[in-house]
Amino acid sequence: MILDGRKTADVLNDILKQDVEKLNNKPRLEIILVGNNPASQSYVKSKLKTASKLGMIVNITNIPETALEKEVRDLIVAFNNNKEVHGILLQLPLPKHMNSDNLIELIDYKKDVDGFHTMNQGLLFQNKSGIRPATPLGIMMLLDYYNIPIEGKHVVVIGRSQIVGAPVAKMFLDRHGTVTITHSRTKNLNEITKQADILVAAIGKPKFVKKDMVKIGAVVIDVGINRVDDKLIGDVDFDEVEPIVSYITPVPKGVGPMTICALAHNLYKLYKEQEKHS
Ligand code: NAD
Repeated sequence: MILDGRKTADVLNDILKQDVEKLNNKPRLEIILVGNNPASQSYVKSKLKTASKLGMIVNITNIPETALEKEVRDLIVAFNNNKEVHGILLQLPLPKHMNSDNLIELIDYKKDVDGFHTMNQGLLFQNKSGIRPATPLGIMMLLDYYNIPIEGKHVVVIGRSQIVGAPVAKMFLDRHGTVTITHSRTKNLNEITKQADILVAAIGKPKFVKKDMVKIGAVVIDVGINRVDDKLIGDVDFDEVEPIVSYITPVPKGVGPMTICALAHNLYKLYKEQEKHS
């Protein structure tokens, strides 16, 4: 069965839209986009489109590729100090002459809509309330929507990035999954992935996961977005794997729309927290 991220995001976004309509003010997100990377431009456009549809305010500041890091720093500081701004998103990747770690640390963690700030990563590590990175959160929302149980399941994650692999593994652990994290230096990867009740592929290599790596009846979450000949291809060989699994996310229309849905939910959460303390 297909885990339809587009449909699920539409349903969850509709509910969120009703909540936003009830607010006195509108949650406001400021996106900083440096340069003109086509993938980043397209992600930013989707974020703007979805959040605007939900009645949220989204502004994009596009800075030239050649700008100094100081320009980005100044913008972040201004948004941190602006009480009308609830969320700040620094679209990655940044040009090589900018230090993304330092810039993310500069964002007020109470406005860190992506959940990448050390404070939010620490809150995740301690299983305390905070902003969770959007892609892992979107995956959880999708599994919950389809009532797929996690407790006691063996979850194998391929990839250990700070954006997807590592946080999603922790979130599965907090939901009582038995989690194995694998990566580029893992030996006998196939033997491990074949044990997965839930397999998450976050690698960045088109059609990397083949049928012989997957247990019959497993749930497969394909996070990968790879542009091949102008098409978006996942990390899982969908045609091979789909017939033998119980559930699988397609690419596109799987994890992608759920990530943006989770981002909008994060902005709403930040707004509520800030209103509480204002
Ligand atoms: P990354 O490059 O930071 O991390 C890739 C991970 O894959 C690394 O931890 C690495 O160890 C592992 N890996 C690489 N080769 C491997 C191999 N041969 N065997 C096992 N593991 C291997 O990438 P990322 O930021 O985590 O993104 C992963 C993919 O997910 C990319 O295609 C990216 O575009 C996509 N992505 C999608 C969304 C979404 O919204 N759907 C969000 C973020 C990232």
